[in-house]
Amino acid sequence: MANTRAKTKAKAKPKPKPKPKPKAKPKAKIVPLNIGGGKLPLAPYSCEVQRSKRKTLALYIKPEKVIVKVPYQASRSEVEEFVQSNEDWIHNRLHEESQRQQEMLRIESGGKIFYRARELTIAFKEGRKRRILVNGDQFIIQGHKLTPAKAQEQVEDFLIDKASQYILPRARGLAHHLGVEHKITEIKLRKTKSKWGHCTSAGVLQYNWLIMLAPYSIIDYMITHEVCHLIHMDHSKRFWQLVDSICPQSEQYIHWLKEHEHRFWF
Ligand SMILES: [Zn+2]
Repeated sequence: MANTRAKTKAKAKPKPKPKPKPKAKPKAKIVPLNIGGGKLPLAPYSCEVQRSKRKTLALYIKPEKVIVKVPYQASRSEVEEFVQSNEDWIHNRLHEESQRQQEMLRIESGGKIFYRARELTIAFKEGRKRRILVNGDQFIIQGHKLTPAKAQEQVEDFLIDKASQYILPRARGLAHHLGVEHKITEIKLRKTKSKWGHCTSAGVLQYNWLIMLAPYSIIDYMITHEVCHLIHMDHSKRFWQLVDSICPQSEQYIHWLKEHEHRFWF
């Protein structure tokens, strides 16, 4: 499954009815926009216009920055109208983006970790034995002379270990149940930048072990998704019917992942 982490890129649907537009804008490529009267607590953002051979106009959101990709021939007023008619969308997305930035996982004492759909506080604990335990609202990382770097390594080991205990037997078990276990050549656990899982035509299943931070229902959905690709190598209707026959809530889980996955990457 391709990663759905679309937080830095989003396409706006142009609205048909533009608002009246002010005239006379700076000549430079970077057009600072007045967001006066905005409802959301945002720092002013700048809007960068990028021209290329494309045919349509599209908006992309970066932290505190809006990029408008436009065709070479688009007029200045066309671009302005497009941005203005999408102003509400821009505000909302910038707000979402700044919230997501704040929610990013930082492994440090006192930091927050979103584990099994609960926000826990990270606590470092001195001890010879390396271990991780959850106690109430605390995610305790125990180790000797812990630093954030060492703690991060420990969390990685913890998740890889959990992934090999949980994902490997379940993926094989499900493939066996579906009669396609023989198609599996390898199951890899990798932290990849852009994907939760992957399945090749050669029968290599790959899972991102960061998924072990998610609730088990989400992990099971990911396992199911990739194993079903052993039968249908596409995202056709037949594929989704098969997924739904095993994991009927898949749509809900995909939605949950879209909402929360930015909190898992570190
Ligand atoms: Zn897929």
